[in-house]
Amino acid sequence: MSTGTNKRLVILGAGESGVGAALLGKQQGWDVFVSDGGNINESYKEVLEQAHILFEEGGHTMQQILNADCIVKSPGINEKTELMKQVRAEGVEVCSEIEFGYRYKGDSKIIAITGSNGKSTTTKLTCHILKTAGYDVAMVGNIGISFAKQIAESPCEWYVMEISSFQLDDIKYFRPDIAVLLNITPDHLDRYDHKFENYVASKFRIAENQSDTDHLVLNQDDTTIINYLLNHSIHSQTIFFTMNEQNHLDQGGFIKGEEMHINYESQDLNMSIHDLTIKGKHNQYDSMAAGISARIAGVRKEKIRESFASFHGLEHRLEFVATIKGIEFINDSKATNVNSVWYALESMTRPVILILGGQDKGNDYAELTPLVKEKVKAIVCMGVDNTAIHQAFAGVVDTIIDTHSAEEAVATAYALGESGDVVLLSPACASFDLFKNYEDRGRRFKDAVKAL
Ligand code: ADP
Repeated sequence: MSTGTNKRLVILGAGESGVGAALLGKQQGWDVFVSDGGNINESYKEVLEQAHILFEEGGHTMQQILNADCIVKSPGINEKTELMKQVRAEGVEVCSEIEFGYRYKGDSKIIAITGSNGKSTTTKLTCHILKTAGYDVAMVGNIGISFAKQIAESPCEWYVMEISSFQLDDIKYFRPDIAVLLNITPDHLDRYDHKFENYVASKFRIAENQSDTDHLVLNQDDTTIINYLLNHSIHSQTIFFTMNEQNHLDQGGFIKGEEMHINYESQDLNMSIHDLTIKGKHNQYDSMAAGISARIAGVRKEKIRESFASFHGLEHRLEFVATIKGIEFINDSKATNVNSVWYALESMTRPVILILGGQDKGNDYAELTPLVKEKVKAIVCMGVDNTAIHQAFAGVVDTIIDTHSAEEAVATAYALGESGDVVLLSPACASFDLFKNYEDRGRRFKDAVKAL
């Protein structure tokens, strides 16, 4: 990859990562140009102007792009666009923002977290543990400030980074000291030629540059992960976490009865799962992954235990909203795929009125059927097109009602509920048919609950 002063760096896409890469590039002496096919957010425009970085929006001027020495591509840009086809045909070097940031990270260390579900929770929890232990650490990547911007503006000794498969698609030398792969279930297949194996390979790229001094933390209960390991070699030290009591791990994370264990270098940290502030099996997986990573990073077990007990979960992830007339309302708007709804339902202990639906990414709802049968008394659909949900659950649940806004969905669920029930917004779908994004959906849900 080219480095060096006065070379031309072109950034495609002026979102958080693109603007971060532009700032870092400028600081490192590159001649930077930012090009965005859509409108650039006003606050980002101000940042670019203040840093005297040239940019265009609403289209791409190809002759200003193809003359780049290096292109940093936003993770949102699909390879199949005309823009990327031309860039690839020209043979310009392309990298992702984490790859670009990596070059300038100095001696700092990286804990990089990926997976289909649980990235944000694990990233935030890991960062919380390191902070509690007094580390000089920043949380970067998809969950806030971009890695590149953090390096440009406030470099740290440790970075805990949430990364998506799209960011991994354009890495070259990126090598985390500790990589975490939480789970792999089908998601975003539209970007991977509808081939699950391509998506799996992309997730495993988190470990491709690692060596035997690095660590890869993995979910032993995930058959996709285990099958991949049977056929591919990993150069780093692997360390697992599991909930399956049959798996005996000398080292790693496991649950025995009601106790969570994190065993590393002959030291066993154990605590009751009831002392974790975040509930449900999925959060126990995330906690084991975060705890192991922190132990590898050198955090003492007492500090980890203390951090687990003081951690607050994230907004829109099984977030308690209110109890009204004995009916509990939970906002899990971030559940944008079937697997995360499975875990949400799994953790429910009361009869559920489930608010489901939105923009369907080709969901297969069948794996939810047993849990829906056992726990769900009614489904409230909240989407423009609810056909797939009706098809999947007709005959499984007696009451399936269509609604088309958060207010309508909340009022309908409330009318169906009785004291002791829980209304769970866990949509299994993207939100873009009715809302700006999943945060907007979650907030509108919460506002509607509070207005009851
Ligand atoms: P991501 O950043 O990968 O989207 P989040 O932490 O934001 O993950 O959680 C997304 C959704 O997945 C939420 O509904 C959350 O309750 C659920 N979830 C969290 N951890 C896991 C896990 N380990 N397995 C399955 N679902 C999970």
